[in-house]
Amino acid sequence: MTLRLHNTLTRRKEAFVPLDPKNVRMYVCGPTVYDYAHIGNARPVIVFDVLFRLLRHIYGENHVTYVRNITDVDDKINARAAERAKGRNISVLEAARELTEETARIYNDDVAALGCLPPTHTPRATDNIGEMIAMIETLVKAGFAYVAQGHVLFDVSKKADYGKLSHRSLDEMIAGARVEVAPYKKNPMDFVLWKPSDANTPGWESPWGRGRPGWHIECSAMSARYLGETFDIHGGGIDLVFPHHENEIAQSEGAHHNHPLARYWVHNGFLQVEGEKMAKSLGNFVTIHDLLRDWPGDVLRFNMLRTHYRQPTDWTVAGMKESWKILERWYDMAGADSSPRAGGGFLDALSDDLNTPQAIAELHRADANDLAGGLMLLGFDPMPVRLVSKKPVDAVEISRAIGARNAARKAKNFKEADRIRDELLAQGIQLKDNPDGTTSWEVKR
Ligand code: AMP
Ligand code: ZN
Repeated sequence: MTLRLHNTLTRRKEAFVPLDPKNVRMYVCGPTVYDYAHIGNARPVIVFDVLFRLLRHIYGENHVTYVRNITDVDDKINARAAERAKGRNISVLEAARELTEETARIYNDDVAALGCLPPTHTPRATDNIGEMIAMIETLVKAGFAYVAQGHVLFDVSKKADYGKLSHRSLDEMIAGARVEVAPYKKNPMDFVLWKPSDANTPGWESPWGRGRPGWHIECSAMSARYLGETFDIHGGGIDLVFPHHENEIAQSEGAHHNHPLARYWVHNGFLQVEGEKMAKSLGNFVTIHDLLRDWPGDVLRFNMLRTHYRQPTDWTVAGMKESWKILERWYDMAGADSSPRAGGGFLDALSDDLNTPQAIAELHRADANDLAGGLMLLGFDPMPVRLVSKKPVDAVEISRAIGARNAARKAKNFKEADRIRDELLAQGIQLKDNPDGTTSWEVKR
């Protein structure tokens, strides 16, 4: 079994050879935390979690370092924070910290419910401003960046191979991109490393005055800090290839004597919903958080993995229903087994550029052992109780059961009362007897 990955840099599937098999290193661009993440954002999280698990399987649990950052400085965050700070005695910076911490917490809970392991490190941009300033200073000294009107810009004309990831020349980029024209730019494709902040905008002291970093420099600084100048895999959604990843490469290589940033660039395709591009204006904006109210996280995860990560995917209710059915059947089969191991055909499929639909097809043919092992490697826990416990609850049925339990307790039939309580618990419903004699319940996910 050899792991092969499609590399956006070469546009080919290549055998994966880590720089150091004792420390395989992967960086994936994380969320900008100002609002609930949508189901499209869940795609890279799930896809790279499967890759993380596969790498741990191949190289050993303690030999893989996975970094996924949190972007907590951004103009959309600042706009929301300014709203939040209104009428309260807090600064915009404090409001931004409050907003981003709250959103990051929800994000972590949501992706944990999707069965994703926490990455090894989840650095926040605002905890790495010093690293960003140092990198920008290096770029200015090396002649890759220039200062103009309080801004620091990367001069793309100084990087001869700019465009190598997106396979576009500067002229093509200028023609195809909606570039921001600004008087302080030498070249329309030059991008911001640092920009000034006014008194009401979060900012940090720097050699160029009080300001804040551009988005791209965050990832260059944080990946260097946690993974070194060159690491193995860099991931994200296909929309990040240009300009974000192209610019990360330009900055990191410019600051690091042209040492490559990452050796394998892996990108997931886009997700749409019921045949349409997801957009707030179309009213089909589906958050992970909302989906988790009605669907078990495992079902959402499984539904995502039924399409190969590089293909576009269409997210539908019909697909989720089908996924639930398959998973429920498999949990019943696999849960009975005690010695799981992933089968050869399954591992071959997964190692072939994370071919999860093929791996799933192998599981349809697998015996209980192979099924349990395959499911576990994909991040599922084949304990039947998990799915059952997450089925949408029937509140009427629960109050009926609570009534029956109260009646049993009144009749001093404690055995029956306990049986009803335990039966509800097995369905994931926990009862709580309140001091005032009433009984309330909650769903344990
Ligand atoms: P953002 O918060 O917009 O920077 O996105 C976070 C991650 O989600 C990035 O890796 C994006 O490429 C990815 N992403 C955003 N929208 C979609 C989508 N509709 N389908 C797949 N991936 C997406
Ligand atoms: Zn990034």
